[in-house]
Amino acid sequence: MSKEYTRAYWEKLGQELKIEGRNFINGAFCDALSGQTFVRIRPMDGKPGATLARSSAADIDLAVKAARDSFESGVWRHKEPLERKKIMLKWVELIRQHAEELAMLETFDVGKPVMASLTVDVRLCADGIQFYAEMIDKMYDEIAPTGPKARALVRKVPLGVIGAITPWNYPMIIDGWKLGPSLAAGNSVVLKPAEQSSLSAIRLAALAHEAGIPAGVLNVVTGYGEETGKPLALHPDVDMIAFTGSTEVGKLIMGYAAQSNLKRVALELGGKSPLIVFDDADLDAAASAAAWGCFYNSGETCHASTRLLVQRSIQDKLVKKIEEVARTITLEHPFEPSAAIGALIEEEHMKKVLSMIADGEKEGARRAFGAERALSETGGYYVSPGVFVDASNDMRIARQEIFGPVMVSIPFDTEEEALKIANDTIYGLAGAVFTTNMDRAHRVSEAIHAGTVWINTYDMSNFATPFGGFKQSGFGRDRSVHAIDKYCDYKTIWQQFN
Ligand code: NAP
Repeated sequence: MSKEYTRAYWEKLGQELKIEGRNFINGAFCDALSGQTFVRIRPMDGKPGATLARSSAADIDLAVKAARDSFESGVWRHKEPLERKKIMLKWVELIRQHAEELAMLETFDVGKPVMASLTVDVRLCADGIQFYAEMIDKMYDEIAPTGPKARALVRKVPLGVIGAITPWNYPMIIDGWKLGPSLAAGNSVVLKPAEQSSLSAIRLAALAHEAGIPAGVLNVVTGYGEETGKPLALHPDVDMIAFTGSTEVGKLIMGYAAQSNLKRVALELGGKSPLIVFDDADLDAAASAAAWGCFYNSGETCHASTRLLVQRSIQDKLVKKIEEVARTITLEHPFEPSAAIGALIEEEHMKKVLSMIADGEKEGARRAFGAERALSETGGYYVSPGVFVDASNDMRIARQEIFGPVMVSIPFDTEEEALKIANDTIYGLAGAVFTTNMDRAHRVSEAIHAGTVWINTYDMSNFATPFGGFKQSGFGRDRSVHAIDKYCDYKTIWQQFN
């Protein structure tokens, strides 16, 4: 019989949990060299949570040195592929064994429902790492065509030391997207999680070590972006930064790479994705996809369906249906087993979301429902799902990421106009089209300029499909067999015979 998860169960587990907030460097926990710390305020109730190391450039130096030493020694990259695979699979097993604990840590940090942390975030982190672990002993190098007097090997070699900088919205999933392929390729890593969401990263690193990943191969350094992320991205001994976060910080990362050692950069950045609904579409399917696509994770999703482009004649009908779906997406305390969505990441972010909602009204869009502060009696930071209608694409709410559960509905009349609005954005992460006309579905999905386009669905994917953006949504792909490539380089070894 499967376990019954209740609020009391999670509250008890939360009280019993021993939480580690120190850095994990060279196989051991350690305080920041300065001894400084900071306290994470829990978004679910506004109360002080874990105490974490407030690291600086000196801690980054220490972690990069540990990563470099482990890389040069070959303790990981020169292990037999089968052996590395077994160790990574053992790590995956440990993640699954500690799933409840990891889910609690994630929910304490980011305020999402603990059942979502358990059944989505922890699961996808483990599945993602497993995907790359299983590739380790199945990757072949090449022999290039040459004349008979020569042999040219084309080897795929790890880059060296990878700096991973990750955001707070899906910490474990995105950490898994970076750690899986970079470690599978034989690199050593320094991971700097967002200041709001370090706990699961620290625990993941400790479990990796327990599984047998050697000291120095995976290090986690916590702290603020300017004080910790910046010195990592500027570090002359880091070979690549794998970054997920805002477009604004992504631009800084490129600058740091250019100012330092021309390290490689992969950027997974923001989005303002269009979901286009034509009047021949299955409106129930479109409403469900739009609502879940925008409101899941309280709208804190880079590829959320935030811009609903809807044929004018059906706007009111569709938005009514979206409201009906939104009512079923229960906003509750994250320990409630029935919660579908929980708190926003922090008070300051909630205020930003509320101020963008106020802006939308000032700019003349009409709030059809929701988009209000909720559950304030908890002390936490909650906003209810809501939709603005009759918006135009030049409004701030249509151009900038709100990163809250707020959808902006923009009416259109023709296919040409819909496509013009869809592509009139600096972003190009994702998009969707709903229609029963398959010729049009093909045309529109080809014309939306984005890394992923869905037809008559939203947010469907698996590990076989690459994920990432066009335009200012970044470059480089997470997930799929292709993700390994960005953590490797090609090396030619030419041998001439007499
Ligand atoms: P963010 O503010 O850009 O932060 C991302 C990471 O960068 C954090 O670890 C942050 O540390 C660090 N950072 C901040 N300033 C830095 C600096 N000067 N140098 C080096 N590192 C620095 O983004 P966020 O608010 O955490 O996450 C939300 C954003 O991520 C949204 O724009 C969302 O669309 C995007 N995102 C994109 C994807 C994708 O796959 N395309 C996925 C998820 C999220 P601190 O937290 O300590 O500041």
